[in-house]
Amino acid sequence: MISARIKQAVRDVNDFPKPGIVFKDITPILKDPALCIEISKALADQLKGIEIDVVAGIESRGFLFGPSLAQLLNVPFVPVRKAGKLPYKTIQQSYDLEYGSAVIECHQDALLSGQRVLIHDDLLATGGTVVAASKLISQLEATVVAYSFIISLDFLNGRERLTPYTQKVFSLVSY
Ligand code: IMP
Repeated sequence: MISARIKQAVRDVNDFPKPGIVFKDITPILKDPALCIEISKALADQLKGIEIDVVAGIESRGFLFGPSLAQLLNVPFVPVRKAGKLPYKTIQQSYDLEYGSAVIECHQDALLSGQRVLIHDDLLATGGTVVAASKLISQLEATVVAYSFIISLDFLNGRERLTPYTQKVFSLVSY
């Protein structure tokens, strides 16, 4: 089972990035090329039957599997980045963090009105990041049709925050 192999590879790092947090470190997965290919295929398999025009990946760990997922789906990949990293004209969306706020952005020509977008990230925690990405995508009049994660931390109830956009929330592993 792919979920067991992912769980075996993921490393728990205590007290990162701050005391009390147990960080799920996916970098050991990247040392196993066969597992990486299987993960990309498993992510694509979960999306069978959903019409997707674009994959939007969230900086930075959404860039690890997002492009290979987009290639398997045969659609473009769009990077959603932290403010100030993209070179061309951008649109922005701010969102609240536990302390303070953050801004994400994408190029203003990244999506066309009406396009059906899959949002991909490595991990769903509270959902704050992908809700902000969903608002960013709505600014360009595109529609979020599904979310795809490698890991979802279900005890943080992030899925509930995504239901206003779509019920189609997939992950390969849940904790
Ligand atoms: P959320 O906005 O609370 O859902 O947090 C999700 C974002 O934070 C994603 O971009 C993740 O990459 C990152 N993140 C939060 N916790 C972890 C973790 O334990 N491991 C890896 N990434 C994490």
